[in-house]
Amino acid sequence: MGARLIDGKMVSADLRGKVTDAVHRLRRDRGIVPGIAVVLVGENPASEVYVRNKSKAVAEAGMRALDRKLPATTSEAELLTLIAEINADESVNGILVQLPLPKPIDPQKVIAAIDPAKDVDGFHPLNVGRLASGLPGLVPCTPLGCILLAKTVNSSLEGMEAVVVGRSNIVGKPVAQLLLAENATVTICHSKTRDLPELCKRADLLIAAIGKPEFVRGHWIKPGATVIDVGINRVPGAGGKSRIVGDVAFAEASNVAGAITPVPGGVGPMTIACLLLNTLHAACAQKGLPAPNI
Ligand code: NAP
Repeated sequence: MGARLIDGKMVSADLRGKVTDAVHRLRRDRGIVPGIAVVLVGENPASEVYVRNKSKAVAEAGMRALDRKLPATTSEAELLTLIAEINADESVNGILVQLPLPKPIDPQKVIAAIDPAKDVDGFHPLNVGRLASGLPGLVPCTPLGCILLAKTVNSSLEGMEAVVVGRSNIVGKPVAQLLLAENATVTICHSKTRDLPELCKRADLLIAAIGKPEFVRGHWIKPGATVIDVGINRVPGAGGKSRIVGDVAFAEASNVAGAITPVPGGVGPMTIACLLLNTLHAACAQKGLPAPNI
């Protein structure tokens, strides 16, 4: 392996430490304790694990976790009523509704009902529009984590040729917008893209958010490139157990890339750290305080 490993665990621990310190100062100097409401509907086991981890991280950062667990039978109207209640609750600065939501609840309707000032996932159309317009706002956590990791390799992304594989609203599109804001030259690829390997090979910075195990091969990568692998895919492993792999064929890619994120231990831990950062930003903005210097 020639590539430098981009250690998401270490970078995220550092970021969480800084957020924790800022939360401590906020409590000590202003008596403010940021609060986040995590709303989980139904019994999706993966979502339950995510929500548990998020709530633990929120508590560790000195913030208040206000978890709301609702049965799978919850109607859209009931969920919208709960969102309205949390919007009005001044002790809640951030709201996160765990996706996917059980059918027939319309996730877009629910996201649009969240107060944009409390939208720490950055999915509300207003925050999406702000990001696209280059205006300040809350930005999605995983894409923000990708940018922070890329910047541990190149402190400035300006002028870099960046290729994003994937155009989802959660990862691909927002990460492309953030890269544009960093003055990178951005190409977005998707399932209808022709000559994907050729396009990837142009990238100084390659971000893979596809959802297909080890899809991006080593020979698609420009020697020395920075590779950020967003994918989380469960595949059969040894002894009948499963294991997690990314969207990039790691062993091959790490022989060509200059720096690469592992899976697990790369982008994953950054998502929660950025959620804490967003909640801190949201709390400061709601109290009319300047953004903390992190
Ligand atoms: P998604 O909504 O399924 O989007 C996948 C994207 O990949 C789509 O834009 C799709 O193109 C594109 N794609 C699919 N097959 C392709 C192909 N053969 N060639 C080129 N592009 C192709 O997935 P997502 O929510 O963005 O998530 C992507 C991955 O990141 C998943 O593995 C997910 O688990 C992971 N993830 C990780 C985190 C984290 O915290 N680390 C957070 C979110 C997601 P079309 O638009 O044309 O269909």
